[in-house]
Amino acid sequence: MNSLKKPIVVFVLGGPGSGKGTQCSKIVQEFGLVHLSAGDLLRTEMASGSQYGDMIATMIKNGEIVPSIVTVNLLKNAIMVDPSKNYLVDGFPRNEENNNSWVENMTSIVDTRFVLYFDCPDEVMTERLLGRGASSGRTDDNIESIKKRFTTFHNQTKPVVEHYGKQSRVHSINSNRPVDQVYDDVRKLFQTLA
Ligand code: ADP
Ligand code: C5P
Ligand code: MG
Repeated sequence: MNSLKKPIVVFVLGGPGSGKGTQCSKIVQEFGLVHLSAGDLLRTEMASGSQYGDMIATMIKNGEIVPSIVTVNLLKNAIMVDPSKNYLVDGFPRNEENNNSWVENMTSIVDTRFVLYFDCPDEVMTERLLGRGASSGRTDDNIESIKKRFTTFHNQTKPVVEHYGKQSRVHSINSNRPVDQVYDDVRKLFQTLA
């Protein structure tokens, strides 16, 4: 056991409905990384009666990015449960503030490798989210919220992806294909990590 080994982190980004959660479940099954969805952590925090609950609820419905002080703490606590594991951090960093906070608070304790980016047209993602909305119970899987989420994605998240792209740290995969075809490309990427 090498106690000096830092947990490896792979960021998983892409527009809302691009298939991040779907592909992460498959990576977990085959490669044993732990899946941490920032959105799921925020929804759990909201439901727990946290002091931030009302703010998180409003921001999720409006597709806004919750202040990093909340999100990075949730991610840090989740990773520190078992630093011997490796992590897929899904839906983060969503904006420059998320990324700056990560660099400041996490660089010394994790090994942030690369960004896995799922590329998918807005129209396709919209159809998927409306489909998911039929059963998800999510307050943001409706057309008004979806439009706001796309605006946030294009204005705030894409610049972060471009930032990592300039460092040649983005692996972009076309996710406008059947789940298993997308995963064939994902698998090749994680085989090189093993
Ligand atoms: P994200 O986490 O990026 O928001 P999800 O993985 O939750 O996306 O997928 C959003 C919706 O689209 C879900 O209903 C999911 O079953 C569906 N979906 C995911 N990937 C695909 C795909 N490649 N083709 C068709 N539908 C998909
Ligand atoms: O990734 P997911 O679609 O589950 O995220 C749902 C919402 O959670 C986002 O639209 C945003 O309001 C919030 N979120 C956030 N900061 C993140 C990830 C998600 O504020 N890093
Ligand atoms: Mg998701």
